[in-house]
This record gives sequence, structure tokens and C-alpha cells, in this order.
Amino acid sequence: RAKDEGGNVHFSYVPSLHAEAEERRVLEGSLRRAIANNELQLNFQPVVDANSEDVVSFEALLRWNSCEHGMVSPAKFIPLAEDTRLIVPIGNWVLHNACREAAKWPSQVKIAVNVSGEQLLEPDFADEVVRALAESGLPPQRLEVEVTESVFLRDGRTARETLEKILALGCTVALDDFGTGYSSLGYLRSLRFSTIKVDRSFVLGASEGSQESVAIINAVVAMARSLNMTTTAEGVEDQEQARMIRDLGCNKIQGYYFGRPMAAEDARKLLRMKREAA
Ligand code: C2E
Ligand code: MG
Ligand code: MG
Ligand code: MG
Repeated sequence: RAKDEGGNVHFSYVPSLHAEAEERRVLEGSLRRAIANNELQLNFQPVVDANSEDVVSFEALLRWNSCEHGMVSPAKFIPLAEDTRLIVPIGNWVLHNACREAAKWPSQVKIAVNVSGEQLLEPDFADEVVRALAESGLPPQRLEVEVTESVFLRDGRTARETLEKILALGCTVALDDFGTGYSSLGYLRSLRFSTIKVDRSFVLGASEGSQESVAIINAVVAMARSLNMTTTAEGVEDQEQARMIRDLGCNKIQGYYFGRPMAAEDARKLLRMKREAA
């Protein structure tokens, strides 16, 4: 090990398979302690109505500020949490905290929570949702669960059954990152999604003049409409993209242009400002 050669250069050797596995093992140990150590935090990103630009919901986005590793990107720790099933306790923490925060907001503002496939395969996940709602006092109609198509891959039937239970509670379900990954239209037939979230790669493509991206957004909007679902465009970063997305008929917009993921306190401040301006 590099460490044995003196100096504090534990990880300075060239990345190898071994080093990557070792890094993951170390990270997993830290992630296991993250809840108890108070290292997890939720950020909230506003989603606005494409026409009125009113804030209609916030998406809860998990942040991990590790004592040992500093800020770790969700792109890194979420897959690790899924592989190790740590996403189950972590996801429950997210659910409870997100509902508790949303209960403080004006009653027309919803909260969207990302849920992984592993969570949907837990036999008591729907009960956990019931507990989070009861404990926070949040009406079920104000909770939207976001899933990607990948949740149907391993045990699609169980995932669907859990989502049906959640729908029966009165919550809504959104299909996240639509158009990337495994896109099969069959999923749209098998579950009553309320919203299709158009992946930001299409927004970016369309704004860069890709006619294919424009055509795909048009088609998704038309399809969603005839299925009685709404569309949210992800990753809208400037006014030009916002205008384009509105003209393409997307119902809601999420992206840095209308707000970055922010601390709970700042989300509350934003809602207060909007209310005073109204
Ligand atoms: P996602 O659910 O698709 O969330 C949207 C991601 O896009 C977020 O990344 C957000 O910060 C980013 N984003 C929003 N607007 C813009 C924009 O205008 N430009 C750009 N470039 N990016 C934008 P983030 O927070 O890094 O999260 C990444 C992914 O991690 C999420 O993608 C979601 O799949 C997963 N994730 C985050 N929190 C949770 C959680 O609590 N549970 C689970 N299971 N997954 C989570
Ligand atoms: Mg999401
Ligand atoms: Mg997304
Ligand atoms: Mg994503």
C-alpha cells in the first residue's frame, strides 16, 4: 500500500480495480453510519407551472456531507446505497423528513420523493408511506413518488403491486428520467402515472437544435395528454429553454433557471416570497 511507503498518500496510486473496490468498501462503511452521524440532508428543488410559473411542488434531493469524505455526489452514493440495500433505511429517512418538511408548506404545494426499486421490493414499503404521512400529517394527495423505469426490471410485478398500494392511499406516481434507459411504453399502460418527467438530455438536445429531441418531446407531450398524464421538463437552465419547453406544451418545468436544489429553510423562504408577491 502507498501508505506503507511513508506519507499520507493512501489513495494516490493509479486507480486500479482493487483501488476502486477498496474505495467503495470504505465509502460503504461511512454511508452505514451516515444517518446516525447526522450527515444526510435534504435539498428541495422547485417545480413550476409552465404557464403561470407558480411553484407547484418541490423535489426532495438527498445530500451526503460525510465527515470522512466531504460532499459525496448522489451519482456515487445512491448506486452504492442501492447495491448494499442501505437505500432501504436511507430511503425511509428521506420519506419521513420530506413529508415532515412539506407539511409546513401551503396546502397546494406537493413534495416529490425519489424511490428506488429496492425500496419497492420491501414488503412493508407502503406501510412506511402510511407511517410517514400519519406522523407528518401530510395529506396523501400531496406526496408524489418518483420512480424510473428501472424499478420494473428485476421484479416488476412486486414493484407494480407496491406502487398500486401507494396509489390506493391517494398519492401520485411520476415516471422519472423518461426517454433514457429502458423506455418501454408498456410501463405506461401498466400503471396510472400522473406525470412523465422528460429527461434533461432532451431539453438540452432541443435547445441545441436537435430536431430529433424536439420531435421526441412533442411525441411524449402528445402521448401523455392522451393518457391523461402531465409532463415535467427536467434540467431547464435558461429563459430560452423555458420558452421552448412551454411552446412544446410541457405542463411543468424544473431546472436551475427556476431554482437550484436548496436547503429546507430557503425553500420555505421562497414560498413566503411568492405568497407575499401574489
Ligand atoms: P433525478 O431524480 O432525476 O433528479 C434530478 C437531478 O437533476 C438532480 O441531481 C438535480 O440536482 C439535477 N438538476 C436539476 N435541475 C438541473 C439543471 O437545470 N441542470 C442540471 N445540469 N442538473 C439539474 P442530483 O441531486 O445530483 O441527484 C441525482 C439523482 O440521484 C436523482 O436524479 C435521483 O435519481 C437520485 N437521488 C437523489 N436523491 C435521492 C433520494 O432521496 N432517493 C433516491 N432513491 N434517489 C435519489
Ligand atoms: Mg427525480
Ligand atoms: Mg429525473
Ligand atoms: Mg436522474
